[in-house]
Amino acid sequence: MGLKKNPNNMNQKIFIKTFGCQMNEYDSNRIYDSVKKIGFQKTENYEDANCYLLNTCHIRDKAKEKVYHEIGRVKKTFRLKQKPLVIIAGCVAQAEHQEMLKREPYIDLVIGPQSYHKINDTILSHIKEKKKIEETEFDTISKFEYLSKIKNESGKVSSFLTIQEGCDKFCHFCVVPYTRGPEYSRPFKQIVDEAKYLVDNGVKEIILLGQNVNAYNSEGYRLSDLILEIEKYPAIKRVRYTTSHPKDMTDDLIKVYKDSKKIMPLVHLPVQSGSNKILDLMNRKHTISEYLKIFDKLKEINSNIEFSSDFIIGYPGEDKKDFKSTFELIKRIKFINSYSFIFSPRPGTVAGDLKLIDKKISMKR
Ligand code: SF4
Repeated sequence: MGLKKNPNNMNQKIFIKTFGCQMNEYDSNRIYDSVKKIGFQKTENYEDANCYLLNTCHIRDKAKEKVYHEIGRVKKTFRLKQKPLVIIAGCVAQAEHQEMLKREPYIDLVIGPQSYHKINDTILSHIKEKKKIEETEFDTISKFEYLSKIKNESGKVSSFLTIQEGCDKFCHFCVVPYTRGPEYSRPFKQIVDEAKYLVDNGVKEIILLGQNVNAYNSEGYRLSDLILEIEKYPAIKRVRYTTSHPKDMTDDLIKVYKDSKKIMPLVHLPVQSGSNKILDLMNRKHTISEYLKIFDKLKEINSNIEFSSDFIIGYPGEDKKDFKSTFELIKRIKFINSYSFIFSPRPGTVAGDLKLIDKKISMKR
């Protein structure tokens, strides 16, 4: 491995390639903030790096294979140079753990999303002992306690701020409950303090993040309380949040659209299908009429509020009638944006073993 012992005060460079959602983007930035303390500077050019970190996503198709493919590319680039320290982080690391070290000896460290508080120690102990290390325990509380002591140095005008991680809902198509673990909400004060760091760094827009952001619940504080507290900073011009679940779209959050001066009038509320039958098969835990009720309540508060959503097309069991219902819902709500994908199974999930519907039909829909 190319890194010399004790990187402190040495000009080590780290390159992070980030796949997937905004939460991974947030995590990558926090990893940069953390490894700075042991002498690593961020580089945008991966060929210059002494440390190559891949922050992976398990949502997309063939996620695991993409990681090995990426490592193949790095290997090629560094064939005639000193090998960088290679770290796999993110949800693929969490799902595959030890297996990755066995399959690809070029990988040095595997670290899951709930273990980022250990990243500095893991790197240092690898440099010292030259051992491959895998850290994939779920330890979300320690992670956020650690990260809250390191300043979030996002120098951007708009910044992500993770307030919640994990999910207890177990939609049948989704890997998140297995890769990010159970729902965890960061303490209210910890988040407000991080928002203050961001404001001091020139941030004007905060995007609150969580896999189930509107399930946020810490000592009785809900997402609505957080929005109203954060917007008290005069420098903050806008607050957004993502991604929410219809089941947690409670009245206090709906009321925020009346009380807040800084919440954006855009609600991203994934529905996945317009058919109750499919929602049930997906284990989504809400119905279309509940979804429409939320829509109506929000429109009543402010008719200018716009909606965006996520859809899965061709979920196992979806027939013509179900698809028609999805189409009708789209026409009714007039979503201004959507993330739509043809269903593709994720190993280890309930839907991973279901009989797929004809690809041509899904494509057509
Ligand atoms: S609510 Fe969202 S994160 Fe949780 S299992 Fe369903 S799709 Fe996945």
